[in-house]
Amino acid sequence: MGNIKPFPHPVYVSRPILPELDEVSAKLHEIWDSGQLTNNGAMLGKLEGLLSRRLGSRHLSVFSNGTAALQIACRALNLTGEVITTPFTFAATPHSLVWSGLRPVFCDIKRDSYNIDPDRIEELITPETSAIVPVHVFGHPCDIDAIGRIAARHGLKVLYDAAHCFGVEVNGTPVGNFGDITMFSFHATKVYHTIEGGALSFASEELKNKAVLLRNFGIKSEDEVLETGTNAKLNELQAAVGILVLEKVEDEIARRKELTCEYRKLLDGMPGITFQEDVSGVRHNYSYFTIRVDKDEYGISRDELQLVLKQYNVYARKYFYPLCSSFACYSELPSAEACRLPEAVKAAEQILALPLYSSLSDSDVEKICRIIRKVS
Ligand SMILES: *Cc1c(COP(=O)(O)O)cnc(C)c1O
Repeated sequence: MGNIKPFPHPVYVSRPILPELDEVSAKLHEIWDSGQLTNNGAMLGKLEGLLSRRLGSRHLSVFSNGTAALQIACRALNLTGEVITTPFTFAATPHSLVWSGLRPVFCDIKRDSYNIDPDRIEELITPETSAIVPVHVFGHPCDIDAIGRIAARHGLKVLYDAAHCFGVEVNGTPVGNFGDITMFSFHATKVYHTIEGGALSFASEELKNKAVLLRNFGIKSEDEVLETGTNAKLNELQAAVGILVLEKVEDEIARRKELTCEYRKLLDGMPGITFQEDVSGVRHNYSYFTIRVDKDEYGISRDELQLVLKQYNVYARKYFYPLCSSFACYSELPSAEACRLPEAVKAAEQILALPLYSSLSDSDVEKICRIIRKVS
């Protein structure tokens, strides 16, 4: 085995799609000519139309970010009391619940999908429970049928956090068409972005109308304010960037798929390293490539591997770490006890996201895999 040289430049875990600057400039000219920078402008209207079609959602609205969208969704659904969710997610998921006056109740995850385990949900339901907020982790859909059955049996709402799920479909159905509301994030670290932004896909026009009111202070008209809304509007500049990013996202996903196949080919059979395969019937978006490091078999831990990669200028990320239930603001909750969340605790210790973005080359992936092979 020859000596491996570090990468000359830092290789980060992700890079955003960047539209051509002259295209951005042309859009800015349009906005300047219109004189309207925000407040439900033409660019936002156009983006919402394009995204409704692309995400196959009949009722869709765009918001200033995914977190604000989640909070508005909680309000639009009139959620109260306790909400069952997963600890293996980004901080925004439980935080949005607390900001909406709700109490998160953490449920363990499944070992293979990293998604909430439907078999563990019902034991957490109390008379105070109003909803389930599952996360389609790394773009892999949850057990949607099982969650739907539990919700129907107990009269609970379902609000999906599909922050990672742009363009994902399950047996031909776009992922935004499940549950009462589905949230997408368009943050620059996601496969599709509007720099900052997000969307909600609603089961009904009525819910959508309520959320649209809530994103603009609850103002119905010059003379009427109907709700205690907030400000979660997307401005025209970001909407314009979103329109341009949409033109590039298919190529981005196609290239990420090739790189994912390359990673899988090169890491296949490496002792102590496992990864997720495609799920049959699912149209994936290849937003992340994560590996799971089993220290006993691989020789070193996930954290140690992350440090080794850093020495080669590769900035892999611990996703999701720390586990939300271990944050100081949640660790006192009864449902946050580590012994109740064994699979989530293990996942948070073992999973590492490797660099994945379209301008990464095959030889970059090959070199990252060689480093991983060498240290084992
Ligand atoms: C990114 C993300 C969010 C928050 O979205 P923002 O648009 O950054 O507010 C919520 N949940 C998950 C799982 C995420 O990854």
